[in-house]
Amino acid sequence: MKIIDGRELARQIREKLKLRIEALGVQPRLAVVLAGDDYASQVYVRNKRKAAEETGMVCEVHHLSAEASFDELAALVDGLNRNPSVHGIIIQMPLPLHLNNNEALRLIDEAKDVDGFGIRNAGLLMQNQVEAVVPATPKGVLVMLKSTGVNLAGKHAVIIGRSNIVGRPLACLLLNQDCTVTVTHTLTENIENIARQADILVAACGCPKLVKESWIKEGAVVIDVGINRVDGRLCGDVDFDEAAAKAAFLSPVPGGVGPMTIAMLLENTCEACEKQLRERK
Ligand code: NAD
Repeated sequence: MKIIDGRELARQIREKLKLRIEALGVQPRLAVVLAGDDYASQVYVRNKRKAAEETGMVCEVHHLSAEASFDELAALVDGLNRNPSVHGIIIQMPLPLHLNNNEALRLIDEAKDVDGFGIRNAGLLMQNQVEAVVPATPKGVLVMLKSTGVNLAGKHAVIIGRSNIVGRPLACLLLNQDCTVTVTHTLTENIENIARQADILVAACGCPKLVKESWIKEGAVVIDVGINRVDGRLCGDVDFDEAAAKAAFLSPVPGGVGPMTIAMLLENTCEACEKQLRERK
C-alpha cells in the first residue's frame, strides 16, 4: 500500500504558486469573512491565513460578531465585492444559525468566489466548462488521485457523502474525468456492498472510521476526506489500519486532504487574481 502524502503534494503546489505570484508582481488578496466564535472555524481561518501569507498573498480576516445581522454581512461583502484590491472572498462556514448559508454565499461576486460555492461556478462545473472555479476540497482530491498515476477513465468511483462542498462537486469532477460515479449518503441501502465495488473510494461523511476492510475492493484507491475528533485525536472516515490491508493507495488523516484543501484555495485565489488583472487591461 502506498500513502498519498497530501502534505508533501500541498507543499509542492504552494512552492509553484509562490513563483507564479512573484512573476505576477501583484500580491493576490484573499478576504475571509468570519462570523461568530466557533472554535474550529477560527483554527481553519488561522491556518488559511498562515498558508496564504507564506505563499506571498495577503489574507485579511473580517470578523463579525455572533449576533451580526444579514444586512451587516451583506454590507461587508458588498464592500469587498467593490474593492478592486480584493481578488478572492470566502465566507467561513458554518455561519451562526440565524444566518442562511445559501443566501450568504449568493452575496459574493462570482468572479471573486474562490471557494466555488456560488451558483454560477457550481453550474459551470456541472456542465464541465473549464472556467469553473472548483471547490477546494474536491479539487484537491482530484490532484491526489492523479498523483497515483492510476488512469481514472472508466473507473468506478464511489463517493460517501453528498454535501454541496464535497460529495456533489466531486461527483461532477470525477464524471468530467470519465469515471463512472456512484454517490452514496445516509439513506443508501447496502452501502458496504456498493463501496466494495469501487476502484476509487472517497469517504466524505463525517463518521469516524466508518469504512472498514470489508468495504474496500482489493487494490482500490481510497481517499479519506473526513476530519473527526475522537477522544481529542483526529481521525478520518476510514479506519486507516483496516483499509491499509486492502487499498493500493490510501490518504491519511491528518496529512491528506486537509493540507490539499488549503493549497487549492490559494490556487483558486491566485487564478482569480490573474483573471481580474487580465480583464482590467
Ligand atoms: P456534511 O455533514 O455536510 O455532509 C455529510 C454527508 O455524508 C451527507 O451527504 C450525508 O448524507 C452523508 N453521510 C453522513 N453519514 C453517513 C453514513 N453513515 N453513511 C453514508 N453517508 C453518510 O459534511 P461535509 O461538509 O461534506 O464534510 C464531510 C466530512 O469531511 C467531515 O468530517 C468534514 O469535517 C470533512 N471535511 C474535510 C475537509 C478537508 O479539508 N479535509 C473539507 C470539508 C469537509
